[in-house]
Amino acid sequence: MKEIWETKRPLEAVIHTLGWPLPSTAFGGTFMYPLEPNVVALGLVVGLDYGDAALDVHEVFQRMKLHPLFRQYLEGGEMVEWGAKTIPEGGYYSVPSRRSGDGLVILGDSAGFVDVPSLKGIHYAIQSGIFAARVIFQALEAGEATGARLAEYDRLVNASFIMRDLYRTRNMRLAFKAGFYAGGLKAGLMTLTGGRFPGRRIAMEPDAAIARRPSAPSSFLPDGKLTFSKVDGVFKSGNATRDTIPTHLVLGSDVPAAAAEFYARMCPAGVYEVAGGTLRVNAPNCVDCKATDVLGPRWTPREGGSGPRYKRM
Ligand SMILES: Cc1cc2nc3c(=O)[nH]c(=O)nc-3n(C[C@H](O)[C@H](O)[C@H](O)COP(=O)(O)OP(=O)(O)OC[C@H]3O[C@@H](n4cnc5c(N)ncnc54)[C@H](O)[C@@H]3O)c2cc1C
Ligand code: SF4
Repeated sequence: MKEIWETKRPLEAVIHTLGWPLPSTAFGGTFMYPLEPNVVALGLVVGLDYGDAALDVHEVFQRMKLHPLFRQYLEGGEMVEWGAKTIPEGGYYSVPSRRSGDGLVILGDSAGFVDVPSLKGIHYAIQSGIFAARVIFQALEAGEATGARLAEYDRLVNASFIMRDLYRTRNMRLAFKAGFYAGGLKAGLMTLTGGRFPGRRIAMEPDAAIARRPSAPSSFLPDGKLTFSKVDGVFKSGNATRDTIPTHLVLGSDVPAAAAEFYARMCPAGVYEVAGGTLRVNAPNCVDCKATDVLGPRWTPREGGSGPRYKRM
């Protein structure tokens, strides 16, 4: 989750927290950094393997801004943009060994090229794009964009700083599967040993095999000044979707009540609502964060020109 704010007070240093304000069953943290003297970007990053089925990331983000750490900058300012987006955070072990085929190459986030500890991927997206452009150009010159020719792209990525970096932090995210404090300790040892600790891939169960349990539901009323509803957020994303768009979210008609409640809390844009015990889907609200594709119904691409119109994200 991310918001851009125009502030009355300039932010001079970057703020980062690890863990807080999330419960111990979730991995993530916060950030706030200056974009211009009186413009800041702030956000909350949460691993989608969180254990509490009632966790509402939008709500946690809104509550986070009430803490004096953030409030001192935001009070009296204006939220000018809001957005939500998933980040591939599996790291080295989740990158497919082959990212090329007949007439295709997979780059950037799509291939999972993100440095998990720093959550940075722009430099990998650019570098993989450069490699892909070179190899595609050569393939087109030779008149055959076959998988065999485009496999050169995989070789270039494997020999580059992209896979070297990801290998160094290969167990970082897996370490936090054991909880925040144990994970923090292990991550420290991994940093000190350049990724050699613990000497093997950390074993873990598939996310789908771990039960999520709901905590007691909370009630939260945004004040419209520091904190906002999901609908306010969608408006500030510049969402340009017509109300009559055919739904691009593929889901069954027999979603159980517990799953419906889970979707409603999971979606930051209020697309899913439980009304009269049934699931209502407000597809035009979707900002294509794609959390749905990981945890709920399938997301599919929709008609061009729709979706959020981010300007400063
Ligand atoms: C909150 C947040 C903060 C981040 N901070 C940093 C940071 O400080 N530094 C850093 O290096 N990285 C950061 N990242 C990660 C970084 O943004 C990504 O790694 C990087 O943008 C990946 O680039 P990409 O080109 O692979 O994908 P993207 O930037 O996601 O580009 C994909 C594009 O494809 C478009 N698209 C998707 N589907 C379709 C479709 N069906 N048809 C047409 N177009 C489509 C999308 O609209 C998008 O414009 C951050 C990510 C997030 C979410
Ligand atoms: S419907 Fe899915 S992809 Fe769209 S905003 Fe909600 S969680 Fe994100």
